Amino acid sequence: MSNAAAKPLPLFALGISPRAGILLPRPLKGPYDYKLPKGCNAPRGTLVAAPLGTGEILGVVWGEAEGSVGDNRLKEAQPLEGNPILPAQLCDFIDWVAQYTLNAPGSILAMALRSQAAFEPQGVRIAFLRGPKTPARMTDARKRVLALAEDGLARNVASFAEEANVSPAVVRGLIEAEALVATELPEFLPFREPDPDFAAPTLSSTQADAARVLVSDVGFKRFSVSLLDGVTGSGKTETYFEAVAQALRQRKQALILLPEISLTVQFLERFAQRFGVRPAEWHSDVSQRERRRTYRAVMNGEARVVVGARSALFLPFPELGLIVVDEEHEQAYKQEDGAIYHARDMAVVRARIEACACVLASATPSLETYVNATSGRYAHLRLRNRHGKAQLPEIRLIDLRHARADPGTWLSQPLREAIASTLESGEQAMLFLNRRGYAPLTLCESCGHKLTCRNCSAWLVEHRYRKRLTCHHCGFEMAPPPQCPQCKAERTLIACGPGVERVAEEFSGVFPNARVAIASSDTMQGPNETQAAIRAMAKREIDVMIGTQIMAKGHHFPQLTLVGIVDADLGGSDGDLRARERTFQLLHQVSGRAGRAEKPGLVLIQTRNPDDTVMKALANGDRDAFYAQERASREATHAPPFGRLAAMILSGGDGDKVRGAARALAEIAPKARDVKVWGPTPAFYSLLRGLTRERLLVQTERSVDMQAYLRAWKTAAKIPNGVRLTVDVDPMSFF
Ligand SMILES: [Zn+2]
Ligand SMILES: [Zn+2]
Repeated sequence: MSNAAAKPLPLFALGISPRAGILLPRPLKGPYDYKLPKGCNAPRGTLVAAPLGTGEILGVVWGEAEGSVGDNRLKEAQPLEGNPILPAQLCDFIDWVAQYTLNAPGSILAMALRSQAAFEPQGVRIAFLRGPKTPARMTDARKRVLALAEDGLARNVASFAEEANVSPAVVRGLIEAEALVATELPEFLPFREPDPDFAAPTLSSTQADAARVLVSDVGFKRFSVSLLDGVTGSGKTETYFEAVAQALRQRKQALILLPEISLTVQFLERFAQRFGVRPAEWHSDVSQRERRRTYRAVMNGEARVVVGARSALFLPFPELGLIVVDEEHEQAYKQEDGAIYHARDMAVVRARIEACACVLASATPSLETYVNATSGRYAHLRLRNRHGKAQLPEIRLIDLRHARADPGTWLSQPLREAIASTLESGEQAMLFLNRRGYAPLTLCESCGHKLTCRNCSAWLVEHRYRKRLTCHHCGFEMAPPPQCPQCKAERTLIACGPGVERVAEEFSGVFPNARVAIASSDTMQGPNETQAAIRAMAKREIDVMIGTQIMAKGHHFPQLTLVGIVDADLGGSDGDLRARERTFQLLHQVSGRAGRAEKPGLVLIQTRNPDDTVMKALANGDRDAFYAQERASREATHAPPFGRLAAMILSGGDGDKVRGAARALAEIAPKARDVKVWGPTPAFYSLLRGLTRERLLVQTERSVDMQAYLRAWKTAAKIPNGVRLTVDVDPMSFF
């Protein structure tokens, strides 16, 4: 042994198994130590099957073993067949996100391993080719199939039947006669590569200027962030497509994030027109099988461009060259369930780790991004004009204090007149109200009782078409009761306030001959129905669409010249620091639907607060005035992005226990400079899905390491059984 001591041998040469810290996709504190097979060299990111309990679990080699557990007590993990490895940058990204959001790294890893079946070996598909024999009996149907087979492409029975317009039995007959023979193909069709030069567009000079900057950013292959800030209809998509084209030319992959699945269908077609093929797709509506195909293709570099929802940010790109976050201000980028994170912010982080370009696109940027862009941290590329001949719509306020609608109605006289003249000239209108259902509140006229959810401190919303009262938070439903549950009086329950169904009812009373459709997540289940409504609108089978924010974005209707905003004063809750910003963004976006082709558009906004900055900025088209005011007020109160916030939310079934735990947590809050702790207070919805909820809010200066502060606090906290503590860093919702 003396020689060996002088010159250490590699561990495997001594017959000792190598060890590694292996991260499991579970909410555990960190990696677990495992042995690896003798002689195994498994770098960070190597996927392994790790014994856990009586079974096995997919895990990832994360780093050195921690080492306190004896060799004889360690279990052995096996690298997967084919030795798949997650890219090192993705592992670094997972660690970063876990650190920032105070989630367990295993919880973040679970998001990156969404398609575990992707690591199973690829199977085969049976397809058929022209065989050696020609059947004695030929029919026209058989001739068509064999003529089709002359092109030498392998097809399955269904494809032959469909393309030759014959029944599957005809194809099977030819297989029996050996006129078609079986062949094996890989299980998955390959992804076709988008062509950067397929249909290069003609850009306006401002678009071209912005595109040049983005193309050169991609070309530098280093970290950069740009805000592509353009009015609705200015052609942001065509502009950032040039950056995608540049990534393709440089043999890099690109990721485009969209806030909503309903936007993807139209987007995929648009992409195909520019690049010749559809991109890969990644969101919750994609089938398990297709996810497996896409995950593999991203990981082996075959899928060059992915379009997806926020979860696509955790895909294993080996050579990412560009991330685009479209509609970057959208709240849908914040994941509120499970591991809480903001996909726009994390996209910037991933771009930094990948040393690649990141483009944030919006007509109404979030204040955070706007401040970063105007202070020079991000490049600020502005597209101030609409593309082509389209003009920005004219926006007018209707002061509801003077132009009141009759009691129980919501369309004022000026709005009704504008609708009438739009319909007369054969054009289309959209009425916007961000409220689903018929009425947001049902009240007893006799005793004042309000119908609320039994699981949540929220009103039940009446859905008259379905004849149900529904809780929009937990999904609880009931039939409208025949009498007041409180005072038992009959026929005293009345609907208060409007939802889209009620506005549609009023509309049809005034304009009985107009063809009207309601667009909300209740009337349109899933992207296909949304798509059908969009097509019907585009083909002018509908005169007026009455919708919630589902119709607010991304759709282009050339004949839509009037947008009416039924109630502009429906903001968020009190104490929500982004309520005004969101109202502005939403109304601005809805307004942008009007007059996108050559016809000028008109937007009428009904409000009781016409002097409010939000309304004035909308009416005057002075967006920067709104941002300046909002910025000043956030700066004065040290609110984000000038200070930092985190929420600590305690929830549980036993209300007293939750309130007790919240008080105890507040008492042990560490004292620190430039850190303020507010609360505990009952959450806005103090009862949600049967759980009592209490909130604490932490506000710090930007200079404070908020994560370190929160971690120290969380570690010291003793949360009783039955109570859950959730930390929400950079909270977006204050419910
Ligand atoms: Zn009553
Ligand atoms: Zn509920």
